Amino acid sequence: MATVETRDVRKHFGDVHAVDGVDLTTKEGEFLVLLGPSGCGKTTLLRMIAGLEDPTGGEILIGGQVVNDLPPRARKIAMVFQSYALYPHMRVFDNIAFPLRAQGVPRAEIPHKVEWAAGLFGIEKLLHRKPRELSGGERQRVALARAVVREPAVFLLDEPLSNLDAKLRASARDELQQFQRRIGTTTIYVTHDQVEAMGLGDRIAVMQGGKVRQIGTPQEVYDEPADTFVAGFLGSPPMNLLEIPDCLVGFRPEHFLPKEAHESPDGLLALKFHISRIEYLGADRLLYGALEGKFPDTKVISKLASTVSTPVQPGKTQDFAVREKDLRFFDRETGRRTRPRPV
Ligand code: ATP
Repeated sequence: MATVETRDVRKHFGDVHAVDGVDLTTKEGEFLVLLGPSGCGKTTLLRMIAGLEDPTGGEILIGGQVVNDLPPRARKIAMVFQSYALYPHMRVFDNIAFPLRAQGVPRAEIPHKVEWAAGLFGIEKLLHRKPRELSGGERQRVALARAVVREPAVFLLDEPLSNLDAKLRASARDELQQFQRRIGTTTIYVTHDQVEAMGLGDRIAVMQGGKVRQIGTPQEVYDEPADTFVAGFLGSPPMNLLEIPDCLVGFRPEHFLPKEAHESPDGLLALKFHISRIEYLGADRLLYGALEGKFPDTKVISKLASTVSTPVQPGKTQDFAVREKDLRFFDRETGRRTRPRPV
């Protein structure tokens, strides 16, 4: 096990500042997720940690040691890519054994290690097959087994589940998490999928434009977003934002409810909500519309559990409310969190 630290790490491709001064420190055995939209620099950061890309500036430490000048194979990391990069002409056994052979592990030790790694992912029966004879989920397990066989100090995973269909992805996510907990290897996992990030990460680093906007537990980044970018990127639908004199005030769709659906009438910000459309999602309904009164024509969304019995109807204006403690304030210029003020 080891920690990973980046100190003011940068990568510039000509004018493109793909990674623009990132300071991160993982904890020992932690599952850290790098989350952000396409092009925010997640993969480039991961590739620099792996040693596949040279930083333009800054330092990378693994287990407390600066590794900038170490080649990938000397970094005690294992990386799994989106494509899995399995060797198509080799059987599963040889795919998993490959890094051991490359490392010069004595021949007699190889079968035992391959079986151990295959056993972790329940693929012992597939060792004689070629990758093309496997399902997407099985290929993914082979790629993971190949990554763990060397017992690396750090796992670097780049969207390893993105080739799986939605159902398989959910079970693969669960498997991956259980596996990581069991072996306790520090893991950095790249994704643009917030559901995956929230479900897997001990902490999430939310990236945008080559920078880390916020790092925290899934609950911290969701409940206490550091800026309007994080507030908007996490949550589906995203946080509602209203403009008041020098700031923006935000609230989550699930906190914006019919007034009478709130437990207590105290401490509420009351708003008139004109509902234009209702979308049924099964367990929830999404109510689209706009505010009237103090915030005319501001578009907002309410997410109502189907257990809420207050009648709601498209075409009507109804009394809705948000608890004041669920309001979040952001500076209008910088987008950063700011202190609460009267609305
Ligand atoms: P995605 O989720 O789409 O993979 P990402 O967050 O992983 O995106 P990166 O792949 O790290 O983003 O790319 C960050 C930025 O750097 C992008 O603007 C990309 O076009 C640019 N970039 C990445 N690699 C190179 C390269 N080799 N040469 C020039 N620009 C590059």
